[in-house]
Amino acid sequence: MVMSFQFPAYFTAIFIITRVMSIMKISKPLDVHHKDIRAVDLATKLSVDPSAIESPSRDFGGIVKAEPEAFLHPSAPQDIAALIKFSYSNSVPFGIAAKGHGHSVRGQAMAENGVVVDMRSMANKRRNGTGIRVSIDRLYADVGGEQLWIDVLNATLEYGLAPVSWTDYLYLTVGGTLSNAGISGQTFRYGPQISNVLEMDVITGKADFLTCSPRMNSELFYAVLGGLGQFGIITRARIPLQPAPKRVKWVRLLYDDFSSFTKDQELLISKNGRKDKSALDYLEGSLLMDQGSPDNWRSSFFPYKDHPKIISLITKHGIIYCLEIVKHYDDRTKHTVDKEMEQVLQGMNYMPGFIFGKDVGYEEFLNRVRSGELKLKSQGLWDVPHPWLNLFIPKSQISDFNNGVFRGIVLERNITTGPVLVYPMNRQKWDDRMSAVIPDEEIFYTVGFLHSSGFDTWKAFEDQNKDIMRFCNKTGIMLKQYLPHYSTKEEWVHHFGSKWKVFQHRKYQFDPRMLLSPGQRIFNNN
Ligand code: FAD
Repeated sequence: MVMSFQFPAYFTAIFIITRVMSIMKISKPLDVHHKDIRAVDLATKLSVDPSAIESPSRDFGGIVKAEPEAFLHPSAPQDIAALIKFSYSNSVPFGIAAKGHGHSVRGQAMAENGVVVDMRSMANKRRNGTGIRVSIDRLYADVGGEQLWIDVLNATLEYGLAPVSWTDYLYLTVGGTLSNAGISGQTFRYGPQISNVLEMDVITGKADFLTCSPRMNSELFYAVLGGLGQFGIITRARIPLQPAPKRVKWVRLLYDDFSSFTKDQELLISKNGRKDKSALDYLEGSLLMDQGSPDNWRSSFFPYKDHPKIISLITKHGIIYCLEIVKHYDDRTKHTVDKEMEQVLQGMNYMPGFIFGKDVGYEEFLNRVRSGELKLKSQGLWDVPHPWLNLFIPKSQISDFNNGVFRGIVLERNITTGPVLVYPMNRQKWDDRMSAVIPDEEIFYTVGFLHSSGFDTWKAFEDQNKDIMRFCNKTGIMLKQYLPHYSTKEEWVHHFGSKWKVFQHRKYQFDPRMLLSPGQRIFNNN
């Protein structure tokens, strides 16, 4: 076969790949006339100059920095497979991390001295410009792992359809959230996003390009879901769809008493059948603390005229608990939805007079965090450090957590200004064969401290996070971290608990040279 490169492109390609190879101490000679055609092609998609590797060296967290040697901009999954094959077959392999939208907060999508794969570069190049194909008859969408959930929403809404399980924020990639779990107020009823996948295409750490599902290559399927990027790179996921509602009734209720708040939450999530029309469509909860306004960057909800009375309530109690629920409706149900919501609210123990409602379009509701993001961006406050801590707490210990952490550490330190989420979900909606790790109890809470900090103040939040972890260890609260980050192998083994052996075995099976997602620091934390 004769290769025809334009001279400058050919020259650049050789230059880049030779440089990457030499930086990575790869000694294999480059034979461009034969089997390394793919490598040369690959080289044209690698950036190695310092300005180009600035972005994959950072993430939304703004705390960790790790420079890769190169940033790959694939135009098709085959480019990713070629890169993995290149590393896998080399005497000195290098780490490879898929970077979705880089919204990790602890360097999970980084690859120090390795290659980061810019998944988003495929978003507009693949499948004739679309990485989202909707099957109206079979009610699913085939979605590239690089796609953002907001684009999945928009593409499926065109057909009056939508996925059922979401994250609060939609500018995250499908591959990125499926590598964790993908949770939000729908999880109690539909399970996390990882419970809503029919099949996937995955490139393993051995460069095998496989389709997997519960029936085909099932070990890989379950490994990858919640697998922290350890077993393969997701290039396509098949997501089930349902008819999309048109609008939502969105209600917030305030509580000064934690026990009433959690009792009501638990009662509401006990109705959770996928087809149960009386079940809620969404349930979350959060803390309101003294920070000048009951709203925060994630949401502007409360009518301005009610701010003073909410603020004085917060001042009186230190913390107010806010329960947030939603019921969908469409043309068929618009006359009955208010009555249904009334029935849901009957018997709830919120503070009389502290109930607030909104009626908004379905898309506006799902994309509710976006306006806060744009506002922060316009003020230069989006790209700041985010020392986040996300935990799963068993139901039986959530009251101890409230007393020791919310009413103890958090109030005492008095530095928390961002959103703090707390809401329950049902274990039965998760599939234990998947890699994601959750507490053992049937009901557990997610607690998210979503701090934004100044560039020189993030350490105070880190100290608070450490205090919280220490408190839980000391008092025996059996938490699991969500979006986990640990620095020692012992901590990871403890995190996975009874799943560790399977997790490790799957790693040897699908990524035996430990190439993938080194930024998670699970198998390469020395
Ligand atoms: P990245 O940060 O780019 O990657 C995350 C990990 O996945 C890395 O290890 C990476 O190597 C791996 N990875 C990326 N793409 C692939 C792929 N295609 N195949 C295999 N591995 C891959 N999470 C929730 O569950 N619910 C929420 O409501 C929620 N809200 C959030 C709001 C904000 C503002 C932010 C910043 C994060 C939020 N998250 C939420 C967390 C988020 O889901 C995770 O951080 C997720 O990993 C981010 O997706 P990403 O595309 O940016 O992934």
